[in-house]
Amino acid sequence: MEQLKNLADDRLINGCIYCGGREETRDHVPSRIFLDHPYPENLPVVGACSLCNEGFSLDEQYVACLLECAKSGSTDLNKISRLKIADILNRTPALRARIESAISIEENQTHISVEVERMKNVILKLARGHAAFELSRICREEPSSFRWCSLPLMSESEQDDFDASHVVEMLAEVGSRNIQRFLVTQIVVQPLNGEEARIHNVVINDWVDVQEDGYRYLAVDDNKEIRIKIVIAEYLASEVVWTLNN
Ligand SMILES: [Zn+2]
Repeated sequence: MEQLKNLADDRLINGCIYCGGREETRDHVPSRIFLDHPYPENLPVVGACSLCNEGFSLDEQYVACLLECAKSGSTDLNKISRLKIADILNRTPALRARIESAISIEENQTHISVEVERMKNVILKLARGHAAFELSRICREEPSSFRWCSLPLMSESEQDDFDASHVVEMLAEVGSRNIQRFLVTQIVVQPLNGEEARIHNVVINDWVDVQEDGYRYLAVDDNKEIRIKIVIAEYLASEVVWTLNN
């Protein structure tokens, strides 16, 4: 990944970004359980206390394994495409059994009963990490909205909507890392009435692809809200929004 300079005034984000406690470790966002070797260079890191850093790992393991099993429709190790996940399932039979019992196949469709609190815990953690690293925003409170669904279950137009990059009308405050990812592009508008074509400069805040088919996210701060979209394993799509009260 591109190495970004931190241009922000980070005096406000001292301490663990999750709980506000003492910063004792650096936590990768995304956590490496969602990525495979070779890991991308310059993975974003945020400050965390040891308790938070370790506290999410079982839930993250659960989500990473659940997604792979959901994709293959079973907990059969030979059908799991990510070696790391097959290895974890092999070493933790209790987790494997728990996921196994959550999967059912009806009319050729895989149904999974998800442990919602664990899923929410992981998505919020990841979203808070992206908000802190990309946007220099601390979002410890409950989000204003939170949704997730399986990408394959979305209709084509829902997917297009979800996948669209964010066209920036107002530049984010200079200072966040996010601005270094912006792409300035030109759109040529050719009116039908024969008038001269007009060229508009637009700034596009696009998805950050951490690893192909593994993990991507979009972090938006338009001064009204913080919006974080995350797609894991091209299977789980999620969106977390914090409304800002400026
Ligand atoms: Zn903490």
